[in-house]
Amino acid sequence: MRIPMIAGNWKMYKTVPEAVQTAGALRNLVDANTAVDVMIAPPFTALAPVSDALRGSRVDVGAQDCFWEQEGAFTGEISAAMVVSTGCRFVIIGHSERRQFFGETDRNVNKKLVAALRSGLTPVMCIGETESQREEDQTFSVLDKQVKIGLEGLLAKDLQSLVVAYEPVWAIGTGKTATSNQAQEVHRFLRQLLAEVFDTALSQTIRILYGGSVKPQNISELMAMPDIDGALVGGASLDATTFDQIINFQ
Ligand code: PEP
Repeated sequence: MRIPMIAGNWKMYKTVPEAVQTAGALRNLVDANTAVDVMIAPPFTALAPVSDALRGSRVDVGAQDCFWEQEGAFTGEISAAMVVSTGCRFVIIGHSERRQFFGETDRNVNKKLVAALRSGLTPVMCIGETESQREEDQTFSVLDKQVKIGLEGLLAKDLQSLVVAYEPVWAIGTGKTATSNQAQEVHRFLRQLLAEVFDTALSQTIRILYGGSVKPQNISELMAMPDIDGALVGGASLDATTFDQIINFQ
């Protein structure tokens, strides 16, 4: 049984006081008995205060990235152990904005996943095709490469906690959502791919989230699909009330 997960990516939004305020509002809204796992990923600067504000609640905290080295002369980078020390349990890795604007490659994603798992973080590995790749019928080959290189060298036993987020780049922050059928087709492909690369048992355990302009208006239809286990939400996670409506999709 895969527990649904709704995760919020706050990107480069919110100062520390703003982040703590939104986290507090969310804490008050999220039902302590919700059957959904909830995670928010504030900017690095707000990780520790937001973790403190959410301690003991149903809302987990994640970072938006981490570096693969444990420590050293890597100005501006943050290690997985540093993320853990803020109170986080999760880390988003390979978000399309990191790939698009910061040159993140599948090889980098692989090194970051290894580092995150070594530190005991649960990685949310983001993958997805661009608009031109979809138009050129490359969606499945792009995802195949992202999964195979991203998870290279890892064993099924390392990946029990892995979360995958399928985020078609053309749907992120654009207001264009993949239809539930389009998303389900890809999620089913990804589950089969994970079964092929690892094993069926693992493929049935791994949660595959959909991301790309998810809103209170489209979450129920997406969640009705058998291989969609939750959502990674950007813009609509910035407001506690809107995000709570997505969490309460049922
Ligand atoms: C994201 O940032 O991962 C995302 C899916 O953004 P949005 O929901 O705004 O499209």
